[in-house]
Amino acid sequence: MPDPIASSLDDDPLARWAEIRARVTRSARDSDRDPADVKLVAVSKTYGAEAIAPLIRAGQRIFGENRVQEAGGKWPALKVTAPDIELHLIGPLQSNKARDAIELFDVIETLDRAKIAEALAAEIQRAGKAPRLYVQVNTGAESQKAGVAPQEADAFITRCRALDLPVEGLMCIPPVDEQASPHFALLAVIAKRNGLGILSMGMSADFELAIQLGATHVRVGSAVFGARPQLAAG
Ligand SMILES: *Cc1c(COP(=O)(O)O)cnc(C)c1O
Repeated sequence: MPDPIASSLDDDPLARWAEIRARVTRSARDSDRDPADVKLVAVSKTYGAEAIAPLIRAGQRIFGENRVQEAGGKWPALKVTAPDIELHLIGPLQSNKARDAIELFDVIETLDRAKIAEALAAEIQRAGKAPRLYVQVNTGAESQKAGVAPQEADAFITRCRALDLPVEGLMCIPPVDEQASPHFALLAVIAKRNGLGILSMGMSADFELAIQLGATHVRVGSAVFGARPQLAAG
């Protein structure tokens, strides 16, 4: 038998969004944290403007996209609908897209190698404006995954700072087949010893756990927008 609550949430993205916000607030309180210190990044990749606009009207302001080109197709028009929208790049950045990324994004969460750091530093100089930056850490040391290796994180952060890059935090995507908590805990340790206050960790399946372990930003896509259209994901 269909669950009446689940199916009404399925039909109503705003109800889903409100529910996730309530869960974020509750998790923060349960961990004796101020709910205002935990931000919901609504991951809108693969969704069109018609799905995103109602959330903006309802008051959601922070959004995540994982492709520069896809974001460039829909966000310039959406951004003018609310001046304080904050757009995060959460997918890999190629150095030849650094210019477009700086133009479009307020935060780039996927700084993870010297080549990108140097390209961003050069483009920031040129543009005279800089997005805030998080370093992505490959906490599971997965060969196919982006991110700096945990044991190289400190040196990489130092290198980014030497380039005057505004590194504010860390981001991770734990391996899908492992418990997430050791990865979240590791990210928190690396952030602390580098004096970084922002932790972007936790997605639809595990954002409450991430909040318990110190997340300041949770990146939630499908639990807000519904299952993503196939093919376009990734
Ligand atoms: C797609 C994506 C998310 C959101 O995933 P959901 O499971 O849909 O919440 C979060 N972070 C990154 C880096 C992503 O690519």
